[in-house]
Amino acid sequence: MTYAKTVSSQKSTWGSEMLNVTNLNSGYGEIGVLNDVTFDVKDEVFAVLGSNGAGKTTLLKTLALLLPTSQGRITLKDADITQMPAHLASAHGLAYVPQEGNLFPALSVMENLRIGGRTGSRPMDEKLDDVFTLFPRLKDRTHQQAGSLSGGEGQMLAVGRAMMQEPKLLLLDEPSAGLSPLFVDILFESIKEAREKRGMTIVLAEQNAVKAIEIADRILVLSLGEIHLLKERKNLEMKDITAAYHI
Ligand code: ATP
Repeated sequence: MTYAKTVSSQKSTWGSEMLNVTNLNSGYGEIGVLNDVTFDVKDEVFAVLGSNGAGKTTLLKTLALLLPTSQGRITLKDADITQMPAHLASAHGLAYVPQEGNLFPALSVMENLRIGGRTGSRPMDEKLDDVFTLFPRLKDRTHQQAGSLSGGEGQMLAVGRAMMQEPKLLLLDEPSAGLSPLFVDILFESIKEAREKRGMTIVLAEQNAVKAIEIADRILVLSLGEIHLLKERKNLEMKDITAAYHI
C-alpha cells in the first residue's frame, strides 16, 4: 500500500473538512507530475513542502483548477469541483495567489484591492480596513501603482487582494520567495491572523520550511510528485523533512 493510501484514513483532531483530494494525478499534457496524491485539509493552516521540482506549484495550480486533473477528484466543502472551470473558483470560495504575475501592475494599490473585493458579502470598506490592519504599509501607498511596489510590498498586496475575496480556502504559492526576513515575518503573521481571526483555511506551498512549520497545523511533504509524509506539526521531526530534500 502506498503512503498516499495510508494517510487518507488518518483522522485529524480539529476542524471540519474543507478540501478533499483523492488519488489525484496531474501534470502538463503528456508530462505527469503528481501521482496518486490523496489528502484532506481541515480548518487549518496546511503547509506543502518539498524540494525544487517536487510538485508544489503543480499541486496548487491543480487545486486552483488552472491545470486539468487527469485522474482523481477534488471536493471543496463536499462539492465536487474537479471539472469546474477556473473562473468559477472564486465564487465557490477559492482564492489563489501564484508565485508571480498576481497583480495588475498599471493599477493602484487601492484599485487592485477593490477588484479583489468585488465578491463576498462584507462591505468593501470593512474588508479594506482588515487588509490595512494586517498590512499598514499598504495603507500608506494606496495611490501608488502596484508595479512600482517593492517585492515584499507587492507580495503583501497580492495576499491582501486575495483576502478581499473573503475566500473559504486560500491557496498561497511560495509567498516568502525573494523576501527579506522582516517581510517574511510580517507576511506569515498575517497568514496566521487570517486563519485565527477570519477563519480562512490556508494551503501554503513553501520552500521556507522553517517558517512554514512555525504557523502550520499539518505539514505535507511532496517528493517527486508523491506524498513523502503528512503529519501534524507536534509530531513532526526535522529529520522527517530533510530526508525528502535529499532525494
Ligand atoms: P519549486 O520549489 O522549484 O518552485 P515545485 O515543487 O513548485 O518546485 P513544480 O513547479 O510543481 O515544482 O514542478 C514539478 C515538475 O513539473 C518539475 O519537474 C517541472 O520541471 C515540471 N513542470 C513545471 N511546469 C511545467 C510546464 N509548464 N511544462 C512541463 N513541465 C513542467
